[in-house]
Amino acid sequence: MKIIDMLRQGRRTVSFEFFPPKNDQGFSDLFAVIEALKPLRPSYVSVTYGAGGSTRRKTVELVKRIRHEIGIEAMAHLTCVGAASSEITSVLQNLHESGIENLLPLRGDPPKGQKTFAAAPGGFRYANELVAFIRAGYDFCLGGACYPETHPEAPSPAVDLENLKRKVDAGVDFLITQLFFDNADFYRFRDKAAAAGIHAPILAGIMPLLSLKQTKRFAQMCGARIPADLLAKLEPVEDDAEAVRSLGTMHAARQCEQLLDAGVAGLHFYTLNRSTATRAIFQHIKGQLGW
Ligand SMILES: Cc1cc2nc3c(=O)[nH]c(=O)nc-3n(C[C@H](O)[C@H](O)[C@H](O)COP(=O)(O)OP(=O)(O)OC[C@H]3O[C@@H](n4cnc5c(N)ncnc54)[C@H](O)[C@@H]3O)c2cc1C
Repeated sequence: MKIIDMLRQGRRTVSFEFFPPKNDQGFSDLFAVIEALKPLRPSYVSVTYGAGGSTRRKTVELVKRIRHEIGIEAMAHLTCVGAASSEITSVLQNLHESGIENLLPLRGDPPKGQKTFAAAPGGFRYANELVAFIRAGYDFCLGGACYPETHPEAPSPAVDLENLKRKVDAGVDFLITQLFFDNADFYRFRDKAAAAGIHAPILAGIMPLLSLKQTKRFAQMCGARIPADLLAKLEPVEDDAEAVRSLGTMHAARQCEQLLDAGVAGLHFYTLNRSTATRAIFQHIKGQLGW
């Protein structure tokens, strides 16, 4: 089923994001994680798209298996990195023939060692070009990435929003945010997007915080801010993994409760291929979700 049809029916979506594991053991571990999360009845799960050819094939293989073997709706991420339009077409054709209906087209980050993004020969410079290309030939439901705290390369929030509008107008059905830790950033962004004429539903990207060191690294890469009051609680217990996990889970659960109260269209969990924190958060929000 297309994710946009779920949203149009007024269903709040709950989704889990995974990345393709490196080896066979990682695959069986991931399937165990997905099985552990299946009872939470996710609306769909998504699988990220990496840089190398073999990991890209794994994305396609994983979404097919999740949809057809595990029986959960699935969405494949797809980036412009290092790919000519002909290569993109063969991935799209494969997904289409496998009955995959949902895609998240992205620009992708510059490959390691490169500071700025350069389109591959015969490829795309920005996600809006990839979106327009897919729309011209296929009937996928398309998501798009967005950034409550502004994409790190954008010269200003206003320009980033103009670019986002261009991407939505090219054919994006719904948006998923980059991770954020302060809901005020999400509400502000949602209001500004609406004022700019962006009416696609916006799903909130939530990352349960598992380790402070790792989260600081992600936050820096993504241009996300860890609020001072959260940091003040976490830093004194930084070396106590259990205490950090418990505070991080509580923070994410509170974020989700408040977002649901504020009428968020959906929650998208960056699971990092783990299930424990996401399951713990669900204990807090399942009443609100009505499941
Ligand atoms: C939900 C989510 C999932 C992700 N999944 C993956 C994944 O699977 N694999 C992966 O490698 N990365 C993934 N990323 C990271 C993403 O690839 C990076 O954030 C990347 O830097 C930007 O991708 P984008 O699609 O948002 O790019 P774009 O929408 O193209 O924006 C990139 C930058 O260019 C600017 N811009 C956009 N369009 C134009 C234009 N027409 N003219 C001038 N400037 C423009 C924007 O303001 C922004 O600064 C994900 C991010 C999110 C939020």
